[in-house]
Formats: sequence, C-alpha cells, structure tokens
Amino acid sequence: MPPDAKLFAAYDRKGEGKLALADLVDVFNRMGLKRDDPRLQSFFAATSKLDSSSAIDLQTFQSLLKTNPLLIQKAMQGQLIIPEFDRFQDQITEIFDQVQKNDSGKVADYIPQLGKVDPELFGISVCTIDGQCFSLGDAKTAFSIQSTSKPFSYLIALSVHGSAKVHHHIGREPSGHSFNAITLDTHNRPHNPMINAGAILCASLIHPEKEPADRFDHVLNTWQRVCGGRRPTFNNSIYLSEKNSADRNFALAYFMREKKIFPPESSLQHALDLYFQCCSIEGNCDNMAIAAATLANAGVCPVTNDRVFKNSYVKDTLSLMYSCGMYDFSGEFAFLVGLPAKSGVSGVVLLVVPNVMGIAIWSPRLDLMGNSVRGVEFCIEVVKKFNFHTYDTLIAGHNSKLDPRQRFDQVRQGSVVQLCWAAANGDLREVQRLVSLGANVTEADYDGRTALHLAAAEGQLEIVRFLVSHGASLEARDRWGGTPLDDAKRHKRESVLELFSVSSKALAAQFV
Ligand code: GLN
Repeated sequence: MPPDAKLFAAYDRKGEGKLALADLVDVFNRMGLKRDDPRLQSFFAATSKLDSSSAIDLQTFQSLLKTNPLLIQKAMQGQLIIPEFDRFQDQITEIFDQVQKNDSGKVADYIPQLGKVDPELFGISVCTIDGQCFSLGDAKTAFSIQSTSKPFSYLIALSVHGSAKVHHHIGREPSGHSFNAITLDTHNRPHNPMINAGAILCASLIHPEKEPADRFDHVLNTWQRVCGGRRPTFNNSIYLSEKNSADRNFALAYFMREKKIFPPESSLQHALDLYFQCCSIEGNCDNMAIAAATLANAGVCPVTNDRVFKNSYVKDTLSLMYSCGMYDFSGEFAFLVGLPAKSGVSGVVLLVVPNVMGIAIWSPRLDLMGNSVRGVEFCIEVVKKFNFHTYDTLIAGHNSKLDPRQRFDQVRQGSVVQLCWAAANGDLREVQRLVSLGANVTEADYDGRTALHLAAAEGQLEIVRFLVSHGASLEARDRWGGTPLDDAKRHKRESVLELFSVSSKALAAQFV
C-alpha cells in the first residue's frame, strides 16, 4: 500500500473508505498547528469548499496531502518534535498558574513610558521548531521589545559584515557590570553585544552607508521574517520617551567614540537613533516565541521555513545569550536554567531550547537585576519539569548504580545508552524527551540491545507502547540473536506479551 493510502487507512477506523475532515483538522489542533500557520494555508484554502462535517475519500485526502505532504504526514503520525503536545500544554499551564501567584518586583520606570504599563499583565507563548504553537494569558498584548532586540541586532550586524569585523569592535565577555555601565574591555571594546554599549555598536554597523529610514526598514523587515511573516509594530511614544531619557546611552556612545572603537564611517547620532528604534519595536508573546524558535531552529523560521540567519551566526548568538543574556544574573541563570535567554526591561524574557523550541514570557514586574520576576521563575520551573538544562543529559555522572566502564560507555554511546537506561527504568518522560531530541529508537547498544529489548525485559508496558509507535522494531536481534519478544517471554512479562501478540503494524497504526 502506498504511504498516503496507509495513512488514510489508519484514520479510517471503521474501514469505510472515508474519514471525517473534522478529525483531520483536530489532528492539527492537538498538535499545536494553528489555523493561520502559513504552511497550512493551501490546505485550508482547499478545504474551504468542503463542509467541516464532510467525510473525505482517499482521492480527496491525497489531494489535500499534496498541499504540504511532509508537515501533514508528520502531524498525522505523531512525529512532530513534541508528539504529545496536549499533555505538554497542560504541564506548561500548571507552571503558568503557579508563577502567576508571584507579584513581587517593580515595573521599570527609568524610561517614563515604560512605567505606565499594567503590572498584572502576564503572557506566555511557546513555538517548537516544527511550528507547534500555544499561548496563555496576555500573549497577544503588545509590549516594546527593549533589550530582546539585542541578539537580533547582533545577528543582523553579523549578516552584514561577518564575524571578524563585528568582533573587531565588540567583545564576547560578560562585563560583570550592569547593562548600561560605562565600561569597556581591555581593547576598548564593549564587552559583548547583549549590553547597551555593544548593542549601540551593532546598530552603528547595520548598513551605516544607507539612509536612516532604510536602515530601520532593514531591521523591521528582518523582524518580520523571524516572526513568521507578521510585521511587528513600532511604539512611537516609547521611542520618544527613550530618546528623552537617554543620557546614559549618549554617554556610552561618546565614550566609545573617544576610545576610537566606534566605526568612523558611522554617524553616532544615527546609530543611537537606530538603537532607540530597535528597543521601541513592539512584539507580543506569540510573535516573540516564533522569533525565539527561529533561533532554536538554527536561523530558519519554523512556520515559514525561511532561512533568516546563517546557522554559525545563530550559534554565536546563543553562546552569548547563554553567558550574557540575563544582565547581572547571567551566571546564576546559566547555572540554574542552563539555556540561552535574553531579557528586556519591559519584562520580556526569550528562552531558547536549542533544537526544540522558543518560549516568550512577558510580565512587567522586574527584580533588582532588571529581569522579569515571573519570567525568571517560569524558566527555572520549566527546566525542573522537562530536563532542558544543557547538562541534564549528564546522567552518567550521577548514576551511582553504574560501574566506571558502564559510565564511560554511556558517554561514548550517548543517546542510545541513555534511551536504553530510561526504557529499562520505566522513565517514560525521559524516553519521550530523548526521542523528541532525535534519539533513534532503532539503534542498539554494544550488545545489540535496543531500548525495546530492555523495556520488554523489564515489563515497562507504557514504554513498549511508545517505542513501537515510534518505529522500534519487534524483529531487532541482540548479539545473542534474541528479540524483544524473547526477552518478554524469558522474564514472563504477560502484559507485554499480550501487546506483542498484536502485530507490530497494527500496533503502530493504533498510535498514529
Ligand atoms: N532601551 C533600554 C535602554 O537602553 C533597553 C535596556 C534593556 O532592556 N535592558 O536603557
């Protein structure tokens, strides 16, 4: 049977040769694929002539599939990066509810217009690298992006000039001082692009030869691309307020010019203006999560597949967000959360889980360091729940049950051994996490043992189900010639044996 017919059959549960259009649309909903997703526009255009209660036959299904075969197939087979997206949403909602109770901190008012925002507002949006989106609270309310513009201005400067020229002018060290401190490194460069001095310098490097209006258009066009084609707005009163209370930023720019690190070809006034304009661009959580997901996805916007930045530049940016993105809390944040992030004084935090998702959190009350109180708390809670911390994968080190040779093997063999370990121990969440990060369920360890062998031997029924539905083979043989079924028999795992009595194909179909 050709793959599209197989897929159709899996959803045609009664075998009547038709399936409900509503079931198909429901798959997108469950998977977090939105109605306005640019990748699904042709699909929805094609279905607009059909009634939502209509049943579609194989031929209609095939023509609908053609509108975006890869995405639709992946969604129907549960193969997007977060397969159980509804469960994931519930877990994020729990954290959101918990964090909302925290009303400590104070709204920034050193830029007068910023102080006027309602402190109670709170929004969160998530966008995965497969474009699965969802949001909570005030996720559609606009705010000025402030310092979350900095990683993107750095990326634009890198794209215009390349790394050597940009880093001739800007360093890569945490400054050890506040974001607007008047301080430069030993080469008289701003310490990094994530603080004001560095960001003003990045602005000076964005097409200094062009008219100010064209320079701003270039920045805004880039923002539009990272936000999945939605054009961000601009808050003129924030801009005017910024400009009128910017003595410190003027001082920084003059200081850099005096130290001869400011590019001579660039007008200081225009660079400052562009910097204020970048801070005054307006985003909301929904759009900013897509921007963060573009970074998680190595520079390709997940909902348009538009490559906006070169992946090596994104790598540089994420490295600097990791070490310098959260003001004077950056070291602590790297320790506790272990992920690249950037905050802005409007109360926004962008969190990047590389190769998985971007998250935007917005809540205007700030702590003493200038970071959103709820934003930071949310990030800390997220890594507690999902093991996203960069070093959460170092399970070998604290696994006292393993002898040193096994530990070495874990490190050497990486995800396969981690997957086998989690499968044997019944840690479904860890198995799902590893698979969502790309662990291959068909791979075997040095003894030819797959995760399915181990789950079957230990009677881990839920994990057996999950692995089979994600392509694990019942026919895999270890180096003694044994299959997962042999393991289940040997250890008398009745429930697993019962499950195996259904053929692997039927089992897989059950889970699409
Ligand atoms: N516009 C703000 C400033 O220059 C940006 C600072 C921030 O978000 N940390 O002061």
